[in-house]
Amino acid sequence: MDSITLKGKLIISGAVCVKTGLHIGGASTGLEIGGIDNIVVRNPVDDHPYIPGSSLKGKMRSLMERRLGLSLNRYVRRGKPEVRIHECDDATQYAECNVCKVFGVAGEKEFATPTRLFVRDVALSDEDVERLAVLDTELPYTEVKWEAAIDRITSAAVPRQFERVPAGVAFKPMQLVFNFYEGDDLRLLRRVFEAMELVQDDYLGGMGSRGYGEIAFEKLTLTLKTGNYYEDPQTSPAQDIREGISLKELREEEKAILGEIERALGGD
Ligand SMILES: [Zn+2]
Repeated sequence: MDSITLKGKLIISGAVCVKTGLHIGGASTGLEIGGIDNIVVRNPVDDHPYIPGSSLKGKMRSLMERRLGLSLNRYVRRGKPEVRIHECDDATQYAECNVCKVFGVAGEKEFATPTRLFVRDVALSDEDVERLAVLDTELPYTEVKWEAAIDRITSAAVPRQFERVPAGVAFKPMQLVFNFYEGDDLRLLRRVFEAMELVQDDYLGGMGSRGYGEIAFEKLTLTLKTGNYYEDPQTSPAQDIREGISLKELREEEKAILGEIERALGGD
């Protein structure tokens, strides 16, 4: 790829609302914290739990790979649990691949165009930091839940403690940034909306089969910044395509939204 022009960016902002306890595992240091070995990821600066952009993006990607039935040909991790993803090997595959263009390929691939989607880390909302700080829980801002793992052979129950972010809190501001480069990128943006709905109907983080990790994207605002905006924001201001809508509303209006973006980018 010799040259490629950025036509604009769509910033999808909003909140990730936690409907059932959320466990996104922190780095396993081998150290037990308060006797709990399954801790959640926290910002080391303020100790607040957060949602890593990579966790949200990775979940969107894997659900989209499964939805499209792509072959999982690359190992992210071997051993337990084994993690495999799909990744295109050549230009022909890549040209047709919705997943690799949106979510990226590892390393420098000469056939690859820039990754369309970035997902930023999402902080615990200021309101919930205040609300949770006054609770007397074992660890700040979270709850600890016992889960019994049943040994499949001996039927012995092995209790384990899981730290989780309680239901009812919100992480915000969430920010997904979609970059437009080529004519068919609107089709790829539609896949982002689709992947968001797949995550809502699946789960985020661990222990989903035990009911953890139901989330909802709420108060979504779509802001379009064209190439001209970056050059001169006074004459080509950023446009709010939609403000404060639910994902359901977004999907219902998807065709109209894509049409509006297409016209705005085309006039650039
Ligand atoms: Zn691919």
